[in-house]
Amino acid sequence: MKVHLIRASGYPLEDFNNVLNLLRKHRGSIEFVPSEPIVLPDSERFKTYDTEWEFEKKEQPPLAKLSTDNNKLANYNISFPHKEKVHTWRQLFGICKDFRKNKNIAKEDHVMLLTNESNEHNWFGSYDESLKNYFIQTNNWSYYFGNDLDSRFPIAYEVAAWILRSMMFRSQVETLNALHKEPRGCMMDFCVKKPQIILKMRTGDLCQDCMNILTNRDVNRVQARELFTIMDGIRGNLLFRQRSILLMENSRLEVRGLSKRVYLTDLGDLEINLNPKERALFLLYLNHPEGIMRSHLVDHKVELRTYYAMFSQQASNQLIDEAISRLTDVTDNNMNEVMARIRAKFRQCVGSQQFEDYSIMATPEGTHKIRLNRELVKFIQ
Ligand SMILES: [Zn+2]
Repeated sequence: MKVHLIRASGYPLEDFNNVLNLLRKHRGSIEFVPSEPIVLPDSERFKTYDTEWEFEKKEQPPLAKLSTDNNKLANYNISFPHKEKVHTWRQLFGICKDFRKNKNIAKEDHVMLLTNESNEHNWFGSYDESLKNYFIQTNNWSYYFGNDLDSRFPIAYEVAAWILRSMMFRSQVETLNALHKEPRGCMMDFCVKKPQIILKMRTGDLCQDCMNILTNRDVNRVQARELFTIMDGIRGNLLFRQRSILLMENSRLEVRGLSKRVYLTDLGDLEINLNPKERALFLLYLNHPEGIMRSHLVDHKVELRTYYAMFSQQASNQLIDEAISRLTDVTDNNMNEVMARIRAKFRQCVGSQQFEDYSIMATPEGTHKIRLNRELVKFIQ
């Protein structure tokens, strides 16, 4: 099975790659194929959410008549005017259809658009009547979950869950009618209130009713198992993240390949995207658990230069020498700037409570060091 993932140009490549990493972690018969970015046509349509409640609420698309309790709305008069540009579902699925046509995509392949644009019914994702064209919303996640949740997890979860739904059901209407209005911690929970999605990701499972639907349909078991593995993996990462904050437990860190890219294994193989200079400095300190005095940094010039030369695209030796001289010069602020950027990148990935364990930090003894327990660190060629 091939799933083509289209990145709408507003969705950052780095985030897209991290989602892809999560999905590809357990390689099997489902192949996730990234595409070139696509620029979405502008939308003329705006939607104003008058209340916070409305903004957090998914709307029923007109094709399903599910009962909702709209009376509640009257009780919420919070001043929350929030205007947002929205795309129609038809527009979003249209992108997938055009992609199929232009790229000659096989009929049985799945095409999924990952987009930072909001949609008219305020859903995290959906598929069209063919059950092969999808969109997944990639924006607004931090509105719901703040920094407690890395948005890769819910996005990768949505990708896996929608493919599984396409195996369970024959039509959009059948799908909508099977949704649970009351949350059960099942993938088919409707989650009228969008923040409820966290519950289903924590359980990462199907309830017995839904399992029966899946069992009674002649689905490809190997592919179904793979999707469950992906969802279990996301759940594991999510739980690790929450538990690690409580227990101050750190993730394993792997440095991979010749380009020595840095990954946090227990956080869904999250890559810390360090640029060549940051990576060179990080590796130097990783290699010196005892710490290095700032004034002694110059003694490690050769090691630092070897790393930097390995990663940087600088063509000339002179430029490499200049960069390393600046970095090791005590009168230049360059080292502090690079360290601050490394800290900011770890903070973004592991949160404000733990980033100091992975970053290069000043010690009371006047050195700088990375505190992370080196038993958690592995170099893989
Ligand atoms: Zn269910």
